[in-house]
Amino acid sequence: MSVTAYIGLGSNLAAPLNQLAGAIAALAALPQTTLMAQSPFYRSRPVGPQDQPDFVNGAAMLTTDLSPLALLDHLQRIERAHGRQRTEHWGPRTLDLDLLLYGQQVVQNDRLTVPHAELPQRDFVLQPLLDLTPELQLPDGRTVASLRSRCPDNGLQRLKPVAKDPPL
Ligand code: ATP
Ligand code: CA
Ligand code: CA
Ligand code: CA
Repeated sequence: MSVTAYIGLGSNLAAPLNQLAGAIAALAALPQTTLMAQSPFYRSRPVGPQDQPDFVNGAAMLTTDLSPLALLDHLQRIERAHGRQRTEHWGPRTLDLDLLLYGQQVVQNDRLTVPHAELPQRDFVLQPLLDLTPELQLPDGRTVASLRSRCPDNGLQRLKPVAKDPPL
């Protein structure tokens, strides 16, 4: 039985919009997985150290037969393929892929906390989720819409869609 999973995407190095576009393509190519939708992209202020560029963030909705840990393995492989270096906590990065939600399942182990622990506090996570699925709920019954309305606004800016094909 396939599960609907949501992936958070972020980048603030090496052409972030290209990083996110490449990540979306890599998610679409995952085995036992279908990319259902991608959110608009947003510009956000960094979490943690402020002496780094703004981020571009978005989210993707998948259906998958992969387990949560198998999905995490693929996300980390895609990060590495995009030149992700593990340096300072919350430091700049070419690509960050977080498993935000995996159906209505709660996962808690050494490698994985799902729903993502910081999801309720982050406008740059909640807003793309809301764009994808306005009625989305967490396993504890809280709605993403209610969390978004209570989340402090950190200056999130929606980016204009990049036209791939110029108008005729
Ligand atoms: P944050 O988790 O606050 O967004 P971060 O994305 O910068 O911070 P990373 O350095 O990318 O953190 O990841 C650190 C570890 O978090 C990973 O090695 C992974 O095992 C673990 N982790 C726990 N839960 C998740 C999740 N839901 N999605 C992705 N990684 C997770
Ligand atoms: Ca696929
Ligand atoms: Ca993250
Ligand atoms: Ca991460």
